Amino acid sequence: MLNDSRGVVVEVEGAPDEIQLFLERLPAEPPPLSSTERMSVAEVPFTAGAGFDILNSERGQPPSALVAPDTATCIACLAELFDPSDRRYRYPFINCTDCGPRFTIVRGIPYDRPLTTMAGFRMCDRCRTEYDDPLDRRFHAQPNACPACGPQAGLVDAEDRPVAAEGDPVAAAEEALLQGSIVAVKGVGGFHLACRADHEAAVARLRGRKHREDRPFALMVPELAAARALIEMDQAEAALLGSPERPIVLARRRPGASVAPVATVSARFHNGIAEGTARICVREAERRGVSTVVLSGGVFQNALLLERTSALLARAGLHVLVPRLLPSNDGGISYGQAAVASAVLSAE
Ligand SMILES: [Zn+2]
Ligand SMILES: [Zn+2]
Repeated sequence: MLNDSRGVVVEVEGAPDEIQLFLERLPAEPPPLSSTERMSVAEVPFTAGAGFDILNSERGQPPSALVAPDTATCIACLAELFDPSDRRYRYPFINCTDCGPRFTIVRGIPYDRPLTTMAGFRMCDRCRTEYDDPLDRRFHAQPNACPACGPQAGLVDAEDRPVAAEGDPVAAAEEALLQGSIVAVKGVGGFHLACRADHEAAVARLRGRKHREDRPFALMVPELAAARALIEMDQAEAALLGSPERPIVLARRRPGASVAPVATVSARFHNGIAEGTARICVREAERRGVSTVVLSGGVFQNALLLERTSALLARAGLHVLVPRLLPSNDGGISYGQAAVASAVLSAE
């Protein structure tokens, strides 16, 4: 058998009924990550071949095979990951034929190691033995790697200086998260910013930096039981969360879940902006000897912000002017949109 740019080519020899059985079982019992888009069968001359061989992939034709998506770490790999006696214990880049990166490491078709970003990592003898053994679950797993031969994890601070160069960088990152730091985790598909979801100050800092006052952040949990403590989960949600794709699932928050409440975080964000704005106004008013401040512009269409800022300025003895009628900027546009929408709805 071999991979070519259109998919997999399998040549089998045997009695007609055995071949028929093979053709029935092949699409019915596929490996977890395979998908059969189309299957075509043709008779070829009998060569009396024996054994099982994977031939080198053919190149040259225009590619049409689909590249598989990345897949969450499988149960077998997770068991190794947390087994202190395993040679891949706590190795972040663990994977096998049934899991791991695909799409994000592929540079060309057919999907073979030389055409992936793993091309520069030479497999050690133990990894190579797994890769070559048809009975091993890492048989032909293209990103196969271990701490001895694969990519390494590292942790650097905001100034790009290595942290915990001697110790375990993953443990150091865990410790930083526990202390309330924001950690940028580089995965194969890009960076994601992480912090403790139950740490109000950390979440507020992340929201401020991302200018995301109240839009939801994704919560990460190690297992379904942990998700159940945070969200109302029905069977469909549980099935999605546990699927090999591990997608982000929108769900209702469970009352009392230990997650920094958006209301608190949002209030802190608004208070922060109001305080900062008021401080600048008061300082400038003193420097220039003025006593009146005019608040206008889109940002003060936000009633909460306007109210807090006005109150702080008034407390500092400043006279605050705000538009009394509908302002001609964002507020006017919003009002116009609402009027048109109302007219359209009532005409229906
Ligand atoms: Zn796996
Ligand atoms: Zn290795």
